[in-house]
Amino acid sequence: PSTFSYEWDTPAYKGKTSFNTGLFINGQFVDGSNKTTIDVVNPTTGKVVGQIAEAVEKDVDIAVDAAQKAFDSAWGLNASGAKRSELLWKLAQLMEANLDELAAIESLDNGKTFGWAKGTDVSFAIQTIKYFAGWADKIQGQTIETDERKLTYTRHEPIGVVGQIIPWNFPLLMLSWKIGPALATGNTIVLKPSEFTPLTAIRLCDLINQAGFPPGVVNIITGYGHTVGAAISGHSRIDKVAFTGSTLVGRKIMEAAAKTNLKNVTLELGGKSPNIIFNDADMEKAVSWTTHGIFWNHGQACCAGSRIYVQSGIYDEFLKKFTEKAKAIKVGDPFGTGIDQGPQVSQIQYDRIMGYIESGKADGATRVGTDGYFIEPTIFTDVKPDMKIVREEIFGPVGVVIKFEDEEDVIRQANDTTYGLAAAVFSQDINRALRTAHRLQAGTAWVNCANQLHANVPFGGFKQSGIGRELGEYALHNYTNVKAVHVNLGHEL
Ligand code: NAD
Repeated sequence: PSTFSYEWDTPAYKGKTSFNTGLFINGQFVDGSNKTTIDVVNPTTGKVVGQIAEAVEKDVDIAVDAAQKAFDSAWGLNASGAKRSELLWKLAQLMEANLDELAAIESLDNGKTFGWAKGTDVSFAIQTIKYFAGWADKIQGQTIETDERKLTYTRHEPIGVVGQIIPWNFPLLMLSWKIGPALATGNTIVLKPSEFTPLTAIRLCDLINQAGFPPGVVNIITGYGHTVGAAISGHSRIDKVAFTGSTLVGRKIMEAAAKTNLKNVTLELGGKSPNIIFNDADMEKAVSWTTHGIFWNHGQACCAGSRIYVQSGIYDEFLKKFTEKAKAIKVGDPFGTGIDQGPQVSQIQYDRIMGYIESGKADGATRVGTDGYFIEPTIFTDVKPDMKIVREEIFGPVGVVIKFEDEEDVIRQANDTTYGLAAAVFSQDINRALRTAHRLQAGTAWVNCANQLHANVPFGGFKQSGIGRELGEYALHNYTNVKAVHVNLGHEL
């Protein structure tokens, strides 16, 4: 396998990286079976900056073999919780020691600013690994009273080899949400990063080895969704698949699981989250949070507050301030100074978002710069409930602002969607705020804030936004099988 090397001499970061780009199977870097590669594109310039190995179906089999072997020998029921905890903690420390380099790679590959990559993506990934390190020696069942002549208890056993498929919007962070709970509970892993943003996952492999994980516990294979992703979700020796990505592909994952071994499926999918501002909200704070809600990560967040409902009494003032705030967002080179927003991740996403912008009534979106995939923050008003830009996930810096009259009306409109990932409510009346938060059909409800996530707190969707929860103690349930043990202490038949 070849090496990926890159050197930065930018206002935000000076430094270099160099790492192996093979498939990481059984603790070693290897070529894909077909010896083919995938180009890595820098979204800031649109230019190819390197190649990574391309896995094919056969490589999934090889990785599953390695993961199964590791599960049966050095991991699974043979590694104590304390050992699993120690290795996860070591990995988090190694990530901390390489924080700047990981952030620079993420920024280069995804286009998000170096500051956000460092302060959010990589830092939150480290916190997540530490959080699950804390759980590894606290995985326990219950003793259940049934009869004095019986002892009955449960064990929370690892599932075995788990498949994990992740998207490009928060590459390393999504990886940490996946491997943290899976490793804490004793599973072994075959993970596929997005073909658009594979670099931090590959860079991490070396740190996984340095931390001392036995070979085969974590296998990371880079490749395309319709080949490698499909092979993972349809694999008869993978007992569980965890997926984050679009609802469209989530459906395919479930179908593949249903058609093969009925593997356990958890899905974190898309959203079209409502952001509701009542007349009595704190105006300045609501404007700031709403701007963050939709434009954070260039709008490429599954929980983005893309439907912005504003009560009629403050509509005009809110819209004016929100528009000013959006215009002040500085779009440019993610390694530049004072830049808030970089390019979108890929040409495909750029074209998709521009398609939505063109499909909207209003215009005003212009391309910043001539290279790369930059899109200015865009707001639409005068929208109708059945417009594409109101109903579909755009996954870019595009929000719609809708006027509403009363609480009943906005709750009905907010819930009128197939999604149910997140929602935000702004009001200084605690009763109204909580009443509304409880009535919204969403896995997360934010009151007077937006996009708040924490390693200790579950995250996931209602309706077609997903199945299961990541983060928090809830995430552990996705990765264990519960076994009930009945012991006879003298009970005669
Ligand atoms: P995507 O569904 O196109 O791809 C996600 C992953 O699935 C990639 O690794 C891809 O290679 C793989 N894949 C593609 N086709 C496949 C197939 N047929 N079988 C198996 N795997 C396949 O999504 P994306 O464009 O990478 O990410 C954006 C989407 O992710 C958005 O819809 C967003 O809302 C969602 N998302 C959700 C969450 C959440 O927690 N709910 C978080 C981040 C992103």
